[in-house]
Amino acid sequence: MTIGILAAMHDEVADLIGDMTRQSGNHVRRIGMRDYHVGELEGQPCVVVLARIGKVAAAATAVTLIREFGVTEIVFTGLAGGVGQHVKVGDIVIADRLVQHDMDARPLFPHHEVPLLGQSEFVTAVALGAELKAAAEVFLREDLQHMVLPDVRTTFGIGQPLLHVGMIASGDQFVADIGQVNSILSALPDALAVEMEGAAVAQICFEYDVPCAVLRTISDRADASAHIDFGKFLSDVASHYSTGILRRFIAARRSNHATN
Ligand code: SAH
Repeated sequence: MTIGILAAMHDEVADLIGDMTRQSGNHVRRIGMRDYHVGELEGQPCVVVLARIGKVAAAATAVTLIREFGVTEIVFTGLAGGVGQHVKVGDIVIADRLVQHDMDARPLFPHHEVPLLGQSEFVTAVALGAELKAAAEVFLREDLQHMVLPDVRTTFGIGQPLLHVGMIASGDQFVADIGQVNSILSALPDALAVEMEGAAVAQICFEYDVPCAVLRTISDRADASAHIDFGKFLSDVASHYSTGILRRFIAARRSNHATN
C-alpha cells in the first residue's frame, strides 16, 4: 500500500519532504515540473509531492501519482476558507464529500455536475478519513500547544480549535468576498469550507477508484480580510498542522500494521 501525499503550497509539505530526503534509500523523480519524493516514511511506502495551486495542477498531480507511482491511496492537506457558520480560523475540516463550486454547464447539465461523468459530489473514503480524523484529534490534543507558539495562537485567535467533517467546495477562485461566499452557500448550503484543489483530486480518485481523503486547516473566513495574514498563517500555523497531523497519521499506520 503506497500513500500519495499532496499539498498545494510548499510550507504544507516542506517538513515531510525534509523527512523523506533525510531517509536513505528514498529518491526524487521529476515529472511535469513537479518533484515526486518516493520511498518510505517510518516504514510506510509514500510519494510526497507539491501539486501547486488550482484544480488542474492538483488533478494532473493526482493522475501522475496513480499512473506513474501506483499509489493506492491519496491524502491531500492544505488550507481553506471557512464558510460554515461555526467554522473558525484554526479549525480543521475533513471532507466527507467535495463539489466543484465553479462547475456550471447549465442548461446542458445540472449545476455542479461534471459533464459526461454524471457526478456532482465526490465522496471520500470512510476508513481513510477516519484515520486522518484520529490523527488530527491527537494533534489538536497533544501537539498544537507546543508546535504553534502561544503568541501566534493569540494573534490568530486560536483557542480550542474544532474538527468538522462535512462538505468542501473547490473552485479556481481565491474566495475573499462575502457576496461570493453567499452565492456559493446559496447553491451549496452544506459547504463548510472553500478551497482550490480538493474536488479535482476527488474526481480523479473517483475515476481511478482510488480511496482519497482531504484535510484542510482553516486559514481565513473567505471574506475581504482573507488574504491579509495568509503568508504568516501558512508559515507559523498551517505548516505545523500539516506536519503534525501527517506525522501522526503515518505513525498510527505503522503501529496498526505492527499489531495486525
Ligand atoms: N497568497 C498565496 C495564494 C494562495 S491561493 C500565494 O501568494 O501563494 C490559496 C490556497 O489556499 C489554495 O491552495 C487554496 O486551496 C487555499 N485557500 C485558503 N483560503 C482560501 C479561500 N478563501 N478561497 C479559496 N482557496 C483558499
